[in-house]
Order: sequence, then structure tokens, then C-alpha cells
Amino acid sequence: MSGSEPLLRVEGLEKYYESESDFIDRLLGRQKEVKAVDGVSFEINEGETLGLVGESGCGKSSIGRSVLRLREPTAGSVYFKGQDITTLSDSELRDLRKEMQIIFQNPQSSLNPRLTVNDIIGEALDIHGIEGGVSRDARIKELLERVGLNASHANRYPHEFSGGQLQRIGIARALAVDPGFIVCDEPVSALDVSVQAQILNLLEDLQDELGIAYLFIAHDLSVVEHIADQIAVMYLGKIAEIGTPEELFAPPQHPYTEALLSAIPEPDPLWEGDRILLEGSVPSPIDPPSGCKFHTRCPRVIPPSDYEFEQEEWRAVMSLRHRAREADIAVETFDAEGAELTAALREELDLPSALSDPEAEQVVQEALRSVADEAFADAERLLSETFETPCTTDEPVLRRTDAGRVACHLFDPAYENGASDGTAAGDGPTTSDGTSAGSAPSGGD
Ligand code: SF4
Repeated sequence: MSGSEPLLRVEGLEKYYESESDFIDRLLGRQKEVKAVDGVSFEINEGETLGLVGESGCGKSSIGRSVLRLREPTAGSVYFKGQDITTLSDSELRDLRKEMQIIFQNPQSSLNPRLTVNDIIGEALDIHGIEGGVSRDARIKELLERVGLNASHANRYPHEFSGGQLQRIGIARALAVDPGFIVCDEPVSALDVSVQAQILNLLEDLQDELGIAYLFIAHDLSVVEHIADQIAVMYLGKIAEIGTPEELFAPPQHPYTEALLSAIPEPDPLWEGDRILLEGSVPSPIDPPSGCKFHTRCPRVIPPSDYEFEQEEWRAVMSLRHRAREADIAVETFDAEGAELTAALREELDLPSALSDPEAEQVVQEALRSVADEAFADAERLLSETFETPCTTDEPVLRRTDAGRVACHLFDPAYENGASDGTAAGDGPTTSDGTSAGSAPSGGD
């Protein structure tokens, strides 16, 4: 490994799964792929921590497992100490596992209930032929003490321990082989808050003493805020923003990071805004939105420059468009018709009684009439053809800013003057992490 080579370098990692499509789809060869990880790149230096954060289903655990090749990546490279481990044979990979370990989310289910602690930790030593005889027992006792347990615990079974103690055993098992890198896959999310802090402190102390690097996966920004040297925020298989904690929190740049930060129960003192409630849930990775995958929920989605929208009005129009596309408006449940029905729909969709721009208002009225007739496709087509925004047509790429890197058109000079500036994101410079600035096909969501 050269002096400048990071311990771990991940380039363009992809992990796709086959979806569980129904019988007809399989018969017609229409089986779709779930893009759990869709072109992710990052680096981790020796003794440092990268925190990987996002909601459930954003692909963060798939990254953790793909990096260790517990699941085979679909594409991309994973360089550990300069060597691409995606090309290693099974036996070469077995040798490497000494250096790359994992701590699981649920210590209860990750420890064999029929083995004593001595056997659980000893198993890791045996697999790699590290210690035998008396020194084996001494090593296990030393590991137990190192993680804050008693050496006498070696002869007990998992059911005799609390959740926090079990996670300490899981950490001891990972440490047994002296790894230089550990994937911590949500190691504290199954624990009580008071125990979480103890486990985080333990992991930090171990890093200071042993120089281990961590890929620390969490769904909550507050968990990684103090432990991480860098934080990557993920949304639907892609990195939305990456930077140091200081860069990310003061202030957050990507609208998704902003929403995640505002959701922390006791927000960071640097956070001065109101709580941002995101609409809906994370879309399915089987059929993700075009352009920016966050556009179906983004509070700052870019309005078309040909119309005068208030930001909240525009968000409501985008939500109408998205729900029309999904045919997700139960028109039959409204006990009304004509103007009354349109008014009820406006209320349901958070649309004001009249938009600020009279021309935009005309278009929305026509779309609402189509929705009232359950002609959802017509409504969606009208809205997407009339109101153009790069957020639905061009996929943003990570660009360096004054504070980290962010994948959002709001930070793309091509769109500085609004949505119809005309230059696609793909014409911008290539990002420093090597991802190309490609454009997604235009069209509906
Ligand atoms: S590209 Fe558009 S939709 Fe995506 S985060 Fe930025 S403003 Fe929001």
C-alpha cells in the first residue's frame, strides 16, 4: 500500500438483486432489478471512521456486506490496502477476512446460543489458526477484559447476558483476529439509549488503542456525529452528501441531510431551523424516480423558471404529479362532485385555493379535473410536460462545494439561474470522486 493509498477505497460499487416479481412477469421475462446500491464511491483511511447514514432500505447494509464480499457486488471495485478484493479467489478472501471483520446489529441473533463465550470467540481464532492451547484461553480472557467484561464470563452462554454485554462479546469476537477494518452494521440501534453511549465509547477507545478503521452504519445522524471522521448520507442506493461532521452539520447542504438533521430529537445546537417533515416514504428501488431520486419528497425541489411558484405551492404540485403517476388518490372516497370535489382534492393535496401564478393555476385546474375523472395518466402527463424541472430529468452527481460534496442541482452552476437554464447536469465537470455527470433519460417520474 503506497503512503497516499487509503486503507479502503470503494469505486462505483453496485449491488443489484432480482425482485420477487409475480408469475406473469417472470413468464414474460419482465423481472426487474432492485438497485440496492447504485454506483457508490468513498474512501476510509487507517484508524478513521466513515459513518454511513440513511433510512431503512437506502442500501447502507448492502454496502457493508458487499465491501466484505459477504454478498458479491454486481459491479465496481473494493480496494483494501491497494488490492482489489473483488477479484480474489475464495482462499485468498479467507486469508483477508482476518483483516476485515463485521459487528452485527442484533447481538442476540448473531451469537450461537449453544456455544459458550469461550467457544464463540475461540471459533474465530480457530478458523484463522491464530492461537492454540493455553495461550488461546489467555487471549480470550484478555479480549473479554478489553471490551469491559469479566474473564470469568468465558464459560457462560449468551442467554446469561444483557443486550449491551452481548454486543461487547460480538466486538470481542471481531477483535480476536486483530483486524485493521471493521464494518459496524448498526451496532447500537437494538440497544437502550444509555447502553448505546457505552458501546460507542468502547468502539472509540478501541480505535484509539488499536488504530482500527470503521465503516459505521446507522439510520440516525446523531449516532455517528461524534464518532465519524466523515459522514456519507445515503438515499435510495446513492450518496446524497459526504463530508466531515462539521461540514455536514453547519449548515447541511443537501435537502435530505437537512431533513434528517432536523429530525434529531435534541437537534445539534448548530441547527436553528424548524423540524422538516418529509412527505411519504422512500420510493421502491425496483422502480425509482427518474432524475434526482429524492424529488418525490424534496421540500426544495427546483421550480420551473417559466412560472412564478411559491416553494410550498410547487412542492404541492409535484406531489400531485407524483400521486397521479402512482394513481394514489382515492377519488371515490370523497363524497363530492364538481367544484366541491376539486376543493376537497386541493385540501387533500395541500394545494392552496388558487396558485400565485394564474397560468400555472389554469394548468393545475385542468390536471385536477383529470384526477376527478380518475384519468391519472392524463393529469401526470399534463403536469410533467408543462412544468419542467431538472430534478425529474437529470440525475445530480456529487460535486465538491465549500463544505464537502453534495449531489443536488441546487449546487450545480448549470442551474444557478433556474430550472430552464438549459444545461444538463451531465455537461458539468466530472466530480472529484470520479463519478461521471451523466443524465437520466427525461420523462415522467
Ligand atoms: S436535485 Fe432537486 S429534488 Fe434533488 S435534492 Fe436537489 S433540489 Fe431536491
